Parts: sequence; C-alpha cells; structure tokens
Amino acid sequence: MRAVLTGGAGFLGSHLCDKLIENGWDVLCVDNLATGSEANIAHYEHNDHFRMLRHDVSRYIDVPGPIDYVLHFASPASPVDYLKLPIPTLKVGALGTHNALGLALAKKAKFFLASTSECYGDPLVSPQPETYWGNVNPIGPRGVYDEAKRYAEAMTMAYHRFHGLDTHIVRIFNTYGPRMRLNDGRALPNFIYQALTGQSITVYGDGTQTRSFCYVSDLIEGIYRLMQSSEHGPTNIGNPQEITIHEFAERVRVLTATKSPIIFEPLPQDDPKRRCPDITKAKKLLGWEPKVGLDEGLRLTLAYFQKQMAKVPAVS
Ligand code: NAD
Ligand code: UDP
Repeated sequence: MRAVLTGGAGFLGSHLCDKLIENGWDVLCVDNLATGSEANIAHYEHNDHFRMLRHDVSRYIDVPGPIDYVLHFASPASPVDYLKLPIPTLKVGALGTHNALGLALAKKAKFFLASTSECYGDPLVSPQPETYWGNVNPIGPRGVYDEAKRYAEAMTMAYHRFHGLDTHIVRIFNTYGPRMRLNDGRALPNFIYQALTGQSITVYGDGTQTRSFCYVSDLIEGIYRLMQSSEHGPTNIGNPQEITIHEFAERVRVLTATKSPIIFEPLPQDDPKRRCPDITKAKKLLGWEPKVGLDEGLRLTLAYFQKQMAKVPAVS
C-alpha cells in the first residue's frame, strides 16, 4: 500500500507516518515545511519505504505511479501560526484540499481529511456531537482556519457524493505530545516552556475557558481505525476529559515543580469558551476510546521538551 501524506513533516503527520510505516505502508510525504520540520522525519533518511517531496500543496500536486490513499494533513494548526499565515491557511484548506482530492480521484485512491473541532467554532452545545453545525465567526481572525476547514469538509463530501470517491473526515480535538514545536504558541508548549525557563505562565482571559486534551498516540490509533472504516461522515476523535485552562496551567506548574507564577493576559478574539468532544460515534463505530490520561501524557511530553531544550537552549 502506498500513501501520499500531505503535512507529513508536522506534529501529527509525522506520527501518522510512523504508524503507516510500522504497518507496512510506503509513504510519500508532501510538505513545504511552513510549520513542520525535517527533524520530525529525520529517522526515515535511510528508509526505502519513505520519501519526502518539498512542495506547496496549494499548487498542483504531481505524483507519478500508483497511490492507494491520499491523507491531507497539511495546514498550519496552531492559532499563532494561522494568524501569522492567514492567506496560506485559507489556500491550503481550500486549494490544497481540492488538489489532494483531485490527486485521489485521478489515482482511484481513498481520501482522508484532517479536519478540526474548530468547525464547531465557539460552540453553543457541549460536548459537541458531529451533528452540531457549529457557531463560527466567518470574518473574525480565526475564520481563516475555521472556514477553510469547513470548506474542506464540504469539498470532500462533494467529491464523495458527485464522484463516488471513498472519503473519510476526522474532526481532531486538541492533541498534544512529542514533536509539537516548543514555540508554536499553543497552550501546552507555552506553559511548559515558561515553567522550565522560570517565566510567568500566561493564561489568557480568566482561564475558565475549557479544552479537552488528547495524547497523540490515542489520536493516531483513532485515525488509523477511521481510515479503514466505511464511514464517510465527519467523526470526532479526542479525549473527553474537559479541563479549564487555569487548571491546566496549574497541572503544568505541579508537574514541572516550577515557581513560575500564573499571570492573566487578554483573551484572543473569538477564543472558544468550551470545547469537549462527544465521542459516542467513534466508540461505537471504531471500538476506540483514549487510553492515556492527562498526567501520563503530560509526563511523556515534558520529557520530550526537556530533551529539546537541552539541545537548543534558547527558543525565539
Ligand atoms: P503542524 O503545523 O505541526 O503540521 C502541519 C504540516 O503541514 C507542517 O509540516 C507544515 O509544514 C505543512 N504545511 C502547511 N501548509 C502546507 C502547504 N501549503 N503545503 C504543504 N505542506 C504544508 O500541525 P499539526 O498539529 O500536526 O496539524 C496537522 C493537521 O491536523 C492540520 O490539518 C490541522 O488542521 C489538523 N488538526 C490538528 C489539531 C491538533 O491539536 N494538533 C487539532 C485539530 C486539527
Ligand atoms: N492559551 C493560554 N495561554 C497561552 C496559550 C493559549 O491561556 O499561552 C489559551 C487559549 O486562549 C485557549 C486555550 O489556551 O483558550 C487553548 O489554546 P491553544 O492555542 O492551545 O489552542 P486552541 O484550542 O485555542 O486552538
């Protein structure tokens, strides 16, 4: 089996690549390194089952030879990244998805879209089931990501309905673990970096907003099962253990035994107040549920960040 994996040099893409290669797949990673890193795939340098093509998938994707699966993971994912790259984010969600779907259709391959809980926006229903249509501000700063992903889902369903393409959509909820960038601006890398360097831990708003954090190995297992299912509608994969951001920052303080104080900074515009996946569908359909609790996942992630910081003492 041969897969084309866009965004394969990113945090999640590189873990999915590991899973595919462990299971006997050949993988062609197509990535322009906008937010990813060659370090995430450096362990494949001498592996014949892996190839890297440096390319912007918002432009036509040309891949010779047969392909069994196109997995589209390319997109900035951290709010700090997509606010810095608003137009490339819209383009990769729209044009990049269209190109990846076109490649799958031309090769008679299956297609898998990495979508997001951001499709639910600032939800008025919690936990969020797949049947909830969401509450998104299309013209706010986060709209560049949210609307691109909603368009990507619509385009994927159109290829399924109109062309009969075998498509799958996962709605990923906040995921964390090794290979996140220490400076990607998301809550967990920020908190750990701040704690380890003795800086104040920056909680935005009053910290009562919630998130539900899933450890990366759980997410990848859910994705691998969904890839092989016959389900075409979007499926939530995430950990339903909901926690306030203030409490999350406290957990990081305890784990790192830091003396860093928590300080409160302004809440970014349209920051969702609650986010928690309803995973009933994934449980029934895939027999999947997360196994790694927050304390264990945080310990594993902290160990990775400590190693990274030992290599590169200063992160800009
Ligand atoms: P990431 O930034 O680590 O990885 C994204 C990868 O896509 C990077 O390697 C980047 O270089 C590449 N990329 C971006 N634009 C590209 C383009 N135009 N052409 C080719 N490559 C391009 O982010 P991640 O956390 O690994 O997210 C991966 C996917 O999962 C994204 O589609 C994201 O929207 C989705 N997702 C992630 C999360 C999460 O919690 N990590 C949550 C919801 C959805
Ligand atoms: N956040 C925070 N301090 C930070 C970074 C993020 O309080 O230094 C908050 C952010 O406002 C949001 C939550 O943590 O409420 C999760 O943010 P993240 O960027 O990780 O992802 P999001 O879920 O918003 O996409």
